[in-house]
Amino acid sequence: MSPGERRGRLVVGNWKMNGSRAANAALLSALRAAAPFPSGVAVCVPAPYLGEVASALQGSPIAWGAQDCSSHANGAFTGEVAASMLAEFACRYVIVGHSERRALHGEGDALVAEKAAQALAAGITPIVCVGETLAEREAGTTVEVVSRQLGAALERLGDAIADVVLAYEPVWAIGTGKTATPAEAEAVHAQLRAQLAARSARAAAISILYGGSVKPDNATALFGQSNIDGGLIGGASWNAEQFAAICKAAA
Ligand code: PEP
Repeated sequence: MSPGERRGRLVVGNWKMNGSRAANAALLSALRAAAPFPSGVAVCVPAPYLGEVASALQGSPIAWGAQDCSSHANGAFTGEVAASMLAEFACRYVIVGHSERRALHGEGDALVAEKAAQALAAGITPIVCVGETLAEREAGTTVEVVSRQLGAALERLGDAIADVVLAYEPVWAIGTGKTATPAEAEAVHAQLRAQLAARSARAAAISILYGGSVKPDNATALFGQSNIDGGLIGGASWNAEQFAAICKAAA
């Protein structure tokens, strides 16, 4: 990246396990009506809705993606969805390593890195999530934890790390209404950026999103930090007005 050039700004909605065919149609039509946006925008939706979401967003500036993919290419893995299947629905992104999957489904760093590798092999940009729990923050191990999580992806992907999007999501801020202050978030983002820079200039130029109770009233201050390139948005992404306002804050 040449001096003065901006990293890609991106706001991604994570619908989690929410939605219905009728509610999705209404939300997406309101979002389309709110476009254009000053940054890239995407929604990561439950897999069964991908076909309809793709049709609803075709020709709009809003991209779509999934919330997880298998660490395997195909085979006897009942219930799993391969990255190549997501690619057939023209997914641009897939979230991997969300803290809910790490905490509720026991996903570890190596598995998350493997999922990211599968996504890249299928031509999809993985959004690799890292973040510390409240206990880890209180123990003063935030940097150690997120460095370990990013380190696993770096080790597995090598130079291809430059093709991922990274999301810093402190676990204690997800869905809780508690947000890291802009300074707290920026300190971790800067640390992650330095770790990437040690690999290559291309790696240092990836987008690093902040996630954790981002709302229209705190988005501008968070996105104004020099190492915060946008957001991964849960709760506020199910409300078209709030999500559109957050997307517009990433100018
Ligand atoms: C998320 O689920 O990735 C998230 C950031 O959720 P929320 O915005 O609701 O905290």
